[in-house]
Amino acid sequence: MTFESLKSHLEDKGVTLVAVSKTKPVDTIQAVYDQGQRIFGENRAQEMAEKQPQLPYDIEWHMIGHLQRNKVKYIAPFVSLIHSIDSMRLLRAVNKEALANGRVIDVLLQFKIAEEESKYGLEIDQFISDFNALDSELSGVRFRGVMGMASFVNDEKQVRGEFRTLKSYFNRLKQDIFRNDDFDVISMGMSGDYQIAIEEGSTMVRIGSLIFGPRNT
Ligand SMILES: *Cc1c(COP(=O)(O)O)cnc(C)c1O
Repeated sequence: MTFESLKSHLEDKGVTLVAVSKTKPVDTIQAVYDQGQRIFGENRAQEMAEKQPQLPYDIEWHMIGHLQRNKVKYIAPFVSLIHSIDSMRLLRAVNKEALANGRVIDVLLQFKIAEEESKYGLEIDQFISDFNALDSELSGVRFRGVMGMASFVNDEKQVRGEFRTLKSYFNRLKQDIFRNDDFDVISMGMSGDYQIAIEEGSTMVRIGSLIFGPRNT
């Protein structure tokens, strides 16, 4: 599939495309920018911070990978959406760095939906109780929605069920906690499973290898 056809397919569906450019050099990213793409996703804070000043300033940089608290400072001045809030401690660290930079940073709550053990992410009941117990306001972050990764398996039924679980978490949070129009993002779907994710209600897909080819490791 060409980039153009992927882009127009997603536009037709009203789904936002995050072009996942991790490991790719800046000239490769520039070429996709020149085809009209403005949102790029990276999974390492330092890699993102190195690329950002070398590329056009109207790029929206999304952090999609596990983020260590001591690395938040590298991206806090410019990052436009952090998909990977996977602990309350990280949430507080992002809030703090946002305030230090005079910004409000948009965030997604990453939930663990895959059966596989290794995945990062919050648990829904634990998050709700921790959130309700917060004693400070977190005025440096704006909650935009949820993110999740399905298991890397060929079992479509399992993947679909995991995406459906994430959608149900989104609905629950929207109903019980984040009752505002800002909370409108469901980030799910990658190169191998984005079509299923869209059928299950994704509003934002994170696609790397389908656009850029296999990763440079
Ligand atoms: C690498 C990555 C992607 C993109 O993966 P592809 O299979 O190359 O599309 C999406 N989301 C996250 C969190 C990633 O780390």
